[in-house]
Amino acid sequence: MNNIILIRFNEIHLKGGNKKYFTKLLINNIKDALDGIDCKVEDIQNRLVVRDYENADEIIEKLKCVFGIHSISRAVELDNDVNTIKDYISQLKISGSFKCNVNRADKSFPIKSNDFAADLGELVLNNNKDAKVDIHTPKTTINVDIRENGKTYIFNEFIFAYDGLPLGENRDGLLLLSGGIDSPVAGFCMAKRGLRQDILHFDSFPYTSKLAKEKVITLAKKIKTFIGAKYMYVCSMTKLQEEFHIHCNTEFAINLLRRSMIRVANALCKKYKYKTIVTGESLGQVASQTIESLTTTNAVAEYPVMRPLISFNKDEIVKIAKEINTFETSILPYEDCCTVFLPRNPVIKPKIKDSEKEESKIDLLPLLKSVIDNIEVIEL
Ligand code: ATP
Ligand code: MG
Repeated sequence: MNNIILIRFNEIHLKGGNKKYFTKLLINNIKDALDGIDCKVEDIQNRLVVRDYENADEIIEKLKCVFGIHSISRAVELDNDVNTIKDYISQLKISGSFKCNVNRADKSFPIKSNDFAADLGELVLNNNKDAKVDIHTPKTTINVDIRENGKTYIFNEFIFAYDGLPLGENRDGLLLLSGGIDSPVAGFCMAKRGLRQDILHFDSFPYTSKLAKEKVITLAKKIKTFIGAKYMYVCSMTKLQEEFHIHCNTEFAINLLRRSMIRVANALCKKYKYKTIVTGESLGQVASQTIESLTTTNAVAEYPVMRPLISFNKDEIVKIAKEINTFETSILPYEDCCTVFLPRNPVIKPKIKDSEKEESKIDLLPLLKSVIDNIEVIEL
C-alpha cells in the first residue's frame, strides 16, 4: 500500500486527438510547480499520480495553483484485487454516517460498481458499531477508484483546484498591469484559459513615485506563478503625457493615453512575438471603458485585445483578487499614470476621428518611438 496524491482533470478529457498534448503540458507545468520538491509525477491514463514525497500538504498547496487540474485527493494505492480492497476497507475506523462510492474504470474488475459499493458498505457496518449508511449527506465518503493501470485509489476528500486549461508552452500574452485591483485578476482569468503572459506596466515618473512602481513589481511577483510570467516591461509615458497635456484637449487625456498604451503594446508584441494584449477593462466602469472609448482603443490595436473582466462587477473582481492574494497590495494608495493630468470631464463617447484629430496636434510617432526605445526590462 502506498500513500499517493491523485490528480484529476476535466476539460482535457474533451480534447480528442489533442488530449495527449494537453496532458503532457499539464505534467510539465506540475513538474515546474513542484520544482525543488523530491517526488515523482506519473501519468496513469485519465489521472495523474504524485508519489515518493515527504510532505503532501506542501505539494497540494502548489498543485491548487496549476491550471488544468480539476481536483486533488490524498489517497492510498492498492492492487485491483477484490480481497486486497476488502481487507483495507474492513480495517477502516468509521463512526457516524458514511457511504461508499465505487468507480470502476477497469472493466476487467469482476464486480460491478454498485454491487461492490454495497459489499464494502456491509464490511464497514460489520466492523464499526457506530457506523450507519447515509447516501445523501454522509459524514464520511469512502471513494474507491478502480483504474485501468491495475491500481485502486481510496480516498475521502476532493480538494478543488481552478480547473481551466494548462498554461501554454509560449508566453503568448502581454498583460497590461496597473497598480489597481482589476488587471492582476484579468491576468489570472486569462491564465486559467491557458494563456501564459508577460507583463507591461506604464508609469509617469516623477509624477508617479518609485514606490508606485515597487508596488506593481510586488503585484507582478504575486501573479507570476499563476500567469507564467518571466519578464515585466516598464514604460515611462511622462513625455507623451506632458505633450498631450500641453497641446491637446484635456478631455481626451485618458483616451489618448490609452491609445498610446496599445501602440506601445503593439510594438512589444511585434518585437517579442506576443499574440494578444490583455487588459482589466470592465464595460462602463469608467469613462475610458464605454463602448465608444473601447472602440477608439481597439482602432489602434494590431493584436486582439482580451478583456476577460468585461462583464464583471467590481465585487466579483474583488472576490477573485482576495482569493489570489493581490487585493491587499492593489489597494495600497499609490498613484497610477492614469491619475496624472486627470481631466475633470473625461470624454465618455469619443469618436475615432476626434482622437486622431487630437493626436495630430503633436508629433506622435517620434515621441512614441523614444518612449518604446526607453522601455526597461525586468526579469521577474
Ligand atoms: P485596474 O485595477 O486594472 O487599475 P482600473 O479600474 O483602474 O483598473 P483603468 O485605470 O481604466 O482601470 O485601466 C484599465 C486597464 O488598462 C487596466 O486594467 C490595465 O489593464 C490597463 N492599465 C491602466 N493603467 C495602466 C498602467 N499604468 N500600466 C499598465 N496597464 C495599465
Ligand atoms: Mg487602473
